Amino acid sequence: MTERPTVAFVGTGVMGAAMAGHLLDAGFPLVVHNRTCVKAEPLLDKGAEWAESAGAAAARADITITIVGYPHDVEQVYLGPAGIVDEAPAGALLIDMTTSTPTLAVRIAQAAASRGLIALDAPVSGGDVGARNATLTIMAGGDRAGFERALPLFEVMGKTYSHMGGPGAGQHTKMANQIGIAGTMLGLIEALQYAKAAGLDLEKTHAALAGGGANSWSWGAYGPRILAGDFAPGFFVKHFVKDLRIAIEEAHARGLTLPGLELAERLYSRLMEADGAEFGTQALWLLYERGDAQG
Ligand code: NAP
Repeated sequence: MTERPTVAFVGTGVMGAAMAGHLLDAGFPLVVHNRTCVKAEPLLDKGAEWAESAGAAAARADITITIVGYPHDVEQVYLGPAGIVDEAPAGALLIDMTTSTPTLAVRIAQAAASRGLIALDAPVSGGDVGARNATLTIMAGGDRAGFERALPLFEVMGKTYSHMGGPGAGQHTKMANQIGIAGTMLGLIEALQYAKAAGLDLEKTHAALAGGGANSWSWGAYGPRILAGDFAPGFFVKHFVKDLRIAIEEAHARGLTLPGLELAERLYSRLMEADGAEFGTQALWLLYERGDAQG
C-alpha cells in the first residue's frame, strides 16, 4: 500500500464515526477528537489515536476533516483559540463536511489561506445509510488543487464528488439539496397520510409507489422507518431545522422567496419545539398523526 497521509477527524457522531471508520479501514493513520470522548471509542479500539482538542488533532495531521453539528461548532473548532487554523502545520488541507453557512466557509478559507493552509467546504448528502455504506454524495467548494488532493479520501467515504466552485460553493450546493429534500419529505408523509385516510394498506402502498413517479430518495430511506414506527435519527430534526433556516436566509439575501421551503421550516420547527428535536426527520409523521400540522 502507498503511504497514506495522516488524517485528523473531528466529530465522530452519527455521520463522522462511520466516515472515519472507512478511512481507518482504507489504511489512513487517524487522529480523532470528539466533544464526547466515548463516541470515539470504537475508532480508538480499531487503532485511531485520541487528541484532546480539535486543534491538537489538526497539529498532528496532513489533512483535517470535520463533521460537527452547527455553524457555531464549526466556527469554534476552526477559528477559536488554539483551533484548527491556528494549530495545523503549514501546507495542511482542511475539509469541513458539516452542513454550515456559505459565509462561514468563506471566512475559514480566508483565515486558512493567510496561514498557508487550504480549506474546503465539502458537505455531504446520503444520510446515515450513505455514511455507513460509503456511498455519500460530496459537494465541495474551494481551491481546485485542494479538491484533487482530497479525492482519495472522498473516494473512500463517498460515491459521487463534485467541485462546485470557490469557497462556499459546496455549502450553497448543499442548501439546494436541502430545499429539494424539504419537498420530498412533505411528499412522502402527505402521500402516506392520504393513503391511510383512504383505508389503503400502507406497506402495500409504499411498495407499489416505489416503482412510480412519487419515488424519491426520501421515499426509500424514510418510508420503511415510518411504517416500522422507527423515529430514531438518521438525520436529526434539529439539524434539518438548522439547514432549512440557513437556506431561507441565503434565499432571502438574494431576494428569493421559496414558499415550499418556508412551509417545511414552519412544520419542522413546530415538531422540534414540541418534542422532536432529537428524532429523525421521518418523525414529521407524528405531527400529522397528532393533527398538529394544520395552520
Ligand atoms: P451528530 O451525531 O450530532 O454528530 C456531530 C458530532 O460532532 C457529535 O458527536 C458532537 O459531539 C461533535 N461536536 C460538535 N461540536 C463539537 C466541538 N466543538 N468539538 C468537538 N466535537 C464536536 O450529528 P450527525 O448526524 O453526524 O451530523 C453532523 C453534521 O452533518 C450536521 O451538520 C448535519 O446537518 C450533517 N449531515 C447529517 C446527515 C445525517 O443524515 N445524519 C446527513 C448529511 C449531513 P457530542 O457527541 O458531544 O454531541
